[in-house]
Amino acid sequence: MNSLLSEKPAILGGVPAFPEGPPEWPFPDLAINQVLQQAQQTGDWGRYHGPCSGQLQNKLADLHQAEQAILCSSGTAAVELALRGLGIGPGDEVILAAYDFEGNFKNIATVGATPVLVDVAADNFNLDLNLLEQAITESTKGILVSHLHGGLVSMQRLTSIAKQYEIPVIEDACQVPGARIEDQIAGSWGEIGILSFGGSKLLTAGRGGAVLTRSPQIAQRIRLYSHRGNEAYPLTELQAGLLLPQLEMLETRNQIRQKHVDTLLTQLGNDSGLIAFRNQQLSSQTVSTPGYYKLGFLYQPAAFSGLSRDLFCQSMQAEGIAVYPGFRALHAIHSRRRYRKTGALNVATECDHNLIVLHHPVLLTSEANMATIAAAVFRIAEFAEEILNSADSGQA
Ligand SMILES: *Cc1c(COP(=O)(O)O)cnc(C)c1O
Repeated sequence: MNSLLSEKPAILGGVPAFPEGPPEWPFPDLAINQVLQQAQQTGDWGRYHGPCSGQLQNKLADLHQAEQAILCSSGTAAVELALRGLGIGPGDEVILAAYDFEGNFKNIATVGATPVLVDVAADNFNLDLNLLEQAITESTKGILVSHLHGGLVSMQRLTSIAKQYEIPVIEDACQVPGARIEDQIAGSWGEIGILSFGGSKLLTAGRGGAVLTRSPQIAQRIRLYSHRGNEAYPLTELQAGLLLPQLEMLETRNQIRQKHVDTLLTQLGNDSGLIAFRNQQLSSQTVSTPGYYKLGFLYQPAAFSGLSRDLFCQSMQAEGIAVYPGFRALHAIHSRRRYRKTGALNVATECDHNLIVLHHPVLLTSEANMATIAAAVFRIAEFAEEILNSADSGQA
């Protein structure tokens, strides 16, 4: 047994598993220093466009077998541009998972269309393809699908349903750059793929995003929409420069994250009280490797003496581990008048209550840290009743 388990959890005054707290992101990086220095010397930091923007566009397009990579100011802006590029507007419906990034719901509403919520699958808490067809109507003009928290949606199956009904797909790969789904890179399956370069994301320029597409018509519509005499949603030359070296490291870093996730899941075992994501619906004839912007688990309060999810997260944070509640389910935070739904959305409701996520930077550190994270979980389980009692008496 790990020696950590003999001590009290940090939330009860014990020594934190990581006294220095979670690692800061992005990590210090020589290649980034060079980009910054060079941008200063050339003056490119002050320019609208330059060689880096062009290179980044080409590299992203190549990587995703897209003809066009349109750089923009955020993943959220990219989703809006995608909807505009498909000409989606008032009277139209767009299908998305009831557990998803809130901005996706808001973007659909922003263009005047109606979000149609579909429940998520019980194994990986992403869009449940068994429920997709019953959500489709004459008004469906798009399917917006994300891959979240280590889960992947079978894009083979999704795109074959979408083709049958002639509905364009927007694949939101903001959390999984470089992930592979059924032999093909994430963000390359739909009519449009979306990337984010936000500050906390796996590829970061502080802000930024990209729209990927093979369709010249869609790209043209997006360019027309975003040009207002100048670009309304730009990514700067400096940001593009910062992303280039990260793109080179992406594959290696994804492999390290995967290896450490495997270790962590092994350390946790099957009855830690945290249910891991599984991707059972992917075609078994193909290779898939998820992305880990966040690693998700379904939290089981019963395994922690009824400790609430929030108190569990606070206990982990006290250990110096970046664990947080997941997204709110979209039907839980939006008025019933603002969306349509199919079915009861029970799994999404469960996610709303009990999903937790581990933020990614620690996954790039050491194998030993994975054992320490697992030990912290066990220690919190062991002391759960004491944590509850001290919370009741207002101490924790
Ligand atoms: C982060 C994120 C976005 C939005 O990206 P920003 O660059 O932060 O606007 C969209 N979808 C998903 C799934 C995300 O995780």
